[in-house]
Amino acid sequence: ERLVTDLKAAIRSIPDYPKPGVVFRDITTLLGDARAFRRAVDEMVQPWPGSKIDKVAGIEARGFILGGAVAHQLSAGFVPIRKKGKLPHATVRVAYSLEYGIDEMEMHRDAVTPGDRVILVDDLIATGGTAAGAVKLLHNLGAEVVAAVFVIDLPDLGGADKLRELGITVRTLMS
Ligand code: IMP
Repeated sequence: ERLVTDLKAAIRSIPDYPKPGVVFRDITTLLGDARAFRRAVDEMVQPWPGSKIDKVAGIEARGFILGGAVAHQLSAGFVPIRKKGKLPHATVRVAYSLEYGIDEMEMHRDAVTPGDRVILVDDLIATGGTAAGAVKLLHNLGAEVVAAVFVIDLPDLGGADKLRELGITVRTLMS
């Protein structure tokens, strides 16, 4: 509880960003706080100390920062999942739903090999559309998604439950 309180205190809430009525949860303050950053990453790694994770997949862009640190701590490789058109080599692509409309994201085809045990990382899960798209890419390439890990869950938007319904183990550090 103390940990969650400390981590929550390290996150900044910005009212009316990116548009009126929305409260944006800004983790740059957590990233900039050495102690909070370390503790957040330690918590994201915790449930998988013994089992070998081959890759950590991070979702652009804040998932890169957290996922890179998690990958290092697990001695796993890191795989970027990016907005379309950013990756230079052969990719797989998936459409995913945003609050309004859809977008597409991509992964390099050779970024994972079938059977790889992968952990998916992002800063926040809301509706789960982004994470579900990332899971689809990983499954299409034959990877096993061992878990999806987020610093923040917005439970009212139902994304974490949606991922669990897909059979994914979901870990979030706070709601
Ligand atoms: P979802 O697809 O609705 O689950 O939205 C999650 C995606 O949107 C993640 O990639 C988040 O980084 C981003 N996102 C949505 N709301 C916030 C927020 O309040 N703070 C930071 N990122 C957010």
